[in-house]
Amino acid sequence: MLCGVAAIVLRSPSGESSSTGATPRAGLSTLATARVQMLRTASGINVAVLGGSPGRWRVITPCDRTATIATGTPIRDIRVIIDPGHGGAEVGAVTHGLEEARLNLQVAVELQHQLQALGITAALTRTGDYRLPIATRAAIANAVAPALFVSVHHNAGAAAPHQGPGTEVYYQHQSPAAKRLAGLVWASVFSTLQSFGVPWVGASDAGAIYRLGSTGNDFYGVLRLTHVPAVLIEPAYMSSTPEASLLGTAAFRSAEAQAIARGIQRYLTTHDTGTGYRTPLPRGFSDDGGGRTDKCRDPALD
Ligand SMILES: [Zn+2]
Repeated sequence: MLCGVAAIVLRSPSGESSSTGATPRAGLSTLATARVQMLRTASGINVAVLGGSPGRWRVITPCDRTATIATGTPIRDIRVIIDPGHGGAEVGAVTHGLEEARLNLQVAVELQHQLQALGITAALTRTGDYRLPIATRAAIANAVAPALFVSVHHNAGAAAPHQGPGTEVYYQHQSPAAKRLAGLVWASVFSTLQSFGVPWVGASDAGAIYRLGSTGNDFYGVLRLTHVPAVLIEPAYMSSTPEASLLGTAAFRSAEAQAIARGIQRYLTTHDTGTGYRTPLPRGFSDDGGGRTDKCRDPALD
């Protein structure tokens, strides 16, 4: 369709059009139905729902604007928000024939399937190759209010040979819940990846760690701005030839996603504490410039 998304208000199929925009008062039937937290638009993009009802949903667009859209497939009961890092012009690391944004999405989609197989409903912040600023990722998490948020990335850059995978899982430094989640996900991913037995690279403090910015708050915006327990995972290094070869295979990506899923399941179903906690080394405060909302152009939502 040619229409934009700014303020499209259509009548709902039932002809109800008298709403003033306020959320309708819940009747007995709607009380029994879980809140619609996200919509998958006709163009295949997931948007978080702020309010409204069929025919006039108020949603957050990928560029972190508020829009009204008429239709979409409702998504409810979301316990996990999966955030594939980067997208659109912000491709992330590019090396060994791999593009990070694409790789992150592949693993994120697989993670959603693996969680679904475990009976855990999850939804993606990004469903295709489009730009999604950091603010939107956090806004989605805050609007949906899931049990947890996991941002999927892959590492690159100089790294020394490492005893076992250099898996890093960053958590919100003031959140005991995020810390526990990070330790459980790290333990699961580390042991699964280790079974692939290639020469690994990694930072000497690789593990379940935090990273602070210059103000003493969490460096990563998706952790700093998100109000639910949140972690950011860097399972392996795209920049290392043996690890890049593994990341190029569906089998490895599936194993990686399954390991993340098992860590999440353990977090949700036990009181276990994780492992792999390290005291982080300073990593600097420089921002790569990605993730901002300036000059952001929303994709078609319908
Ligand atoms: Zn990244």
